[in-house]
Amino acid sequence: MAFGLLVSFLKRIHREGVVALLAIFFVCIPLCALELNGVNHLQLDEIGAKLGMQSRWVEKGKIKELKSEWTRLRFELHKREMIVNGLRVHLGFPVAGSRGKLYLSETDFRHQIQPILTPQVFGKPPGFHHIIIDAGHGGTDPGAENPALKLREKSLTLDLAKRLKAQLEKAGYKVTLTRSGDRLIALPERALMANRLKGDLFLSLHFNASGKSSVHGVETYAFTPLLQPSTSRGKLHPSDRKSYPGNKHDPWNELLGFYVQRSLKETLPSPDRGLKRARFTVLRDLNMPGLLIEGGFVSHSQEGRNIGSAAYREKIARAIASGLATFEKTANRLKGKAQ
Ligand SMILES: [Zn+2]
Repeated sequence: MAFGLLVSFLKRIHREGVVALLAIFFVCIPLCALELNGVNHLQLDEIGAKLGMQSRWVEKGKIKELKSEWTRLRFELHKREMIVNGLRVHLGFPVAGSRGKLYLSETDFRHQIQPILTPQVFGKPPGFHHIIIDAGHGGTDPGAENPALKLREKSLTLDLAKRLKAQLEKAGYKVTLTRSGDRLIALPERALMANRLKGDLFLSLHFNASGKSSVHGVETYAFTPLLQPSTSRGKLHPSDRKSYPGNKHDPWNELLGFYVQRSLKETLPSPDRGLKRARFTVLRDLNMPGLLIEGGFVSHSQEGRNIGSAAYREKIARAIASGLATFEKTANRLKGKAQ
């Protein structure tokens, strides 16, 4: 059996050359897992070697960087995030240390690193043409408010949804809004509606508020993968062991979220609060990749004023559309459609 497998690999290398060699490398070279704090972890140096990246200490025993020609990943001991080319990506578990080496959880490698750096290991991404845009809140639920600036989240999300719809239609997509007026739709119904409409991609638009007036910035949420705690939770919860329809597209949620958050960070003056994870009801039952985007804090004086301006909301819409365009480019490349 093993001999037969070897012969078929050798035949494939003969036929397809380097591509087959790379495929075999990714499939066959296992990483050694070490259990730390009850969770399987992989050594960062080994992850770097598997990805063909150089590994170096930025601060010995504390901060490590993995680097290739195009990508820099930065990890800090005990921090629950990694920095990917300057962008914050929140991890399921903190970076761990043992005997002077740094470790990343196996699920973070699979759900946070591979979708961004080697999405080809997940096969072909789903195509997308029909985009469902969900304007958060509505009707009796105003969402976040800033009375001093006369800002109500439900109106701002609807305005942003219409702007994004116009931009995406101009780019050739079919777009449907979950609501086009001031009405409340129950959270589970929003995802079910997207499924009934047979959407290919779902975007829920929101604005944030905080009791602390200094808090501001943009953040993007993808549905929490199986066996990982959401960003707001410190450790695993029994619900983290349950798989939902929203998990079917885990790698594509992550890659899409990365591109959209990167585009928001590059376009807007707001601080990058990162790509986060949550089991939001609007994302839980989706049959398609989806994101929830928080376009800034209405409670912050400057960011609130920005959000109140139509030109700024147009800018947010452009940033989201640009993130989607990058995702489509990558998806086409993975499907072998690239020129
Ligand atoms: Zn909201």
